[in-house]
Amino acid sequence: MGSYQTLFANFYNAQTLILDNGFKFVFVKNPRVEQSAHYSLIYNVGARDENATLHKTGLAHFLEHLMFHGTTLYPPNIYETIIYKAGGEQNAETEHDYTKYYATIPKENLIEILEIEADRMQNLLIEADAFEKEKSVVLEEICGADEADLLEPYRQGVRDRLYNGHPYQRPIGGIRPNIENLTIDDAYDFYRKYYQPCNATLYIEANLDFDDISQHVNIIFAPLQNNTPIIRQVINLNPPINRKLHIHRSENQENAHFNRTYRLPISNLRDKAALELLCSFLNFKSCSFNQFLIDQKKITNDLGISFNSNQKDFWIIEISFIFDHKNFELNQLNEIIDQAFTKTLESEDINEAKLSEIRKAAEYNNMCIMTVFPSYNHLFTQTIALGQPIENLESSLIIEKELAYTDIKNSLKTLINNKEYLTSCLLTQ
Ligand SMILES: [Zn+2]
Repeated sequence: MGSYQTLFANFYNAQTLILDNGFKFVFVKNPRVEQSAHYSLIYNVGARDENATLHKTGLAHFLEHLMFHGTTLYPPNIYETIIYKAGGEQNAETEHDYTKYYATIPKENLIEILEIEADRMQNLLIEADAFEKEKSVVLEEICGADEADLLEPYRQGVRDRLYNGHPYQRPIGGIRPNIENLTIDDAYDFYRKYYQPCNATLYIEANLDFDDISQHVNIIFAPLQNNTPIIRQVINLNPPINRKLHIHRSENQENAHFNRTYRLPISNLRDKAALELLCSFLNFKSCSFNQFLIDQKKITNDLGISFNSNQKDFWIIEISFIFDHKNFELNQLNEIIDQAFTKTLESEDINEAKLSEIRKAAEYNNMCIMTVFPSYNHLFTQTIALGQPIENLESSLIIEKELAYTDIKNSLKTLINNKEYLTSCLLTQ
């Protein structure tokens, strides 16, 4: 059996096993999950790895669909059938940075499902009729008729301006004519290249014994062979943001939406924690940023400031709100937001007392999340999927406690000085 180590004994108790073929297993014992088990199998491949020059976009997502068509040993749909029969739930997702297959199932079905996962990692059977059928499903998904998709041109406009030339510019599902021309060979090439044990991490959360489950994992996954070394292209692109105002009009739109988007380079855990706390602070109804925009300037009734660190290459901060288009010019809104920032910095709002308030609110929210969904899988799988060491989870908690209010203030100053943001608006007709 491969090497293994125990991490963060004081909080998460995660245990890791690395097999000789490079396959990684992360286990979190969760005593609150009595009868069931959650697993995620994460492949270190996503839409970013597609060869756009050769017009092969859409492969990562297409392959995710094909993975449910079975092998010689396990006929099509057997995976889903077993899970649903047992009352479990399963799903899969493709992102720019990774692909993830996951399920919550009765504990006693776990081993059987892992055997299927191991089998379809190596022996996927793609038959011509299934390939064509799935192609139409995938095509339908990217131009579906549901309401969310009407906003796709708007989102594409945002991606064009934020990520010009970077793979994040492309829709995750791929570009339609590319998908139409994909062949079975394309799918097999992509599959053989990236679906290898050294490129996968299994995460399990259950009330099981680590030694026992890791023996099973070893028996099931250790015999798998790697085909070829994986050279995942490092995308070192930092295209300038096209700051040209992005306006999209839609007749289905009831309200006018305003977004200011900052694209930030990935930095260290300390900067990340400071930005997280800054955004929590700016969201506080009692903070001068909120009060200036809502009570004084009345540009909206509600605004949201989000920090997204779920991408491998960039962090995103977004200020968004609904506004009355008749009363406000777009340029005026940017000016007012800038004023709100300056007011916030001058107000001495960010102080020791406020920081402790933010921390309490954050702790309470985290505890609620854990009580409603007594699970850590989201935290762990996200960290694994972005290729970050899972030790980061523990370090982040420590760093966050160490931060002073001056750190939050400094990250606000940095944000104020950053003029490279994108303004986009979704307007009614
Ligand atoms: Zn899909």
